[in-house]
Amino acid sequence: MNVIDAKSPRPVMGLYDQPLWESVNARGMKLQRCAGCGNWLYPPGPSCPSCLSCELVWTPLSGRGRIVSWVVFHRHYLPAYPPPYNAVAVRLEEGPTMISNLEGAMPGEDSIGRAVRLVYATMPDGMILPRWALA
Ligand SMILES: [Zn+2]
Repeated sequence: MNVIDAKSPRPVMGLYDQPLWESVNARGMKLQRCAGCGNWLYPPGPSCPSCLSCELVWTPLSGRGRIVSWVVFHRHYLPAYPPPYNAVAVRLEEGPTMISNLEGAMPGEDSIGRAVRLVYATMPDGMILPRWALA
């Protein structure tokens, strides 16, 4: 199977994930924000882990963050991800840490702390994924 025909791994949908993926498909990623204390939730859930409020509002992200960790894979694990490919952990400006891929460049020794911005990648099979690019 070549990369063009490879299917992107599908999201594993939890009970609270549907609005997140709808916002990604609309290229305006949202996360839940607590109306009680302002805490941002990721992954999505039923209540705020900080104050236990159930009043959560799907709110657009700023799209800004900083790289806190990264890795480059040199083995071929997934058909849609030929090596080398990377994964980065990004601390969102809003607080949560999100893991995705860095577009446009491989991360390296100077990547920790680098500012990144949220971008939306359209995979060969049409799936839209939230990813990061250097700001
Ligand atoms: Zn709260």
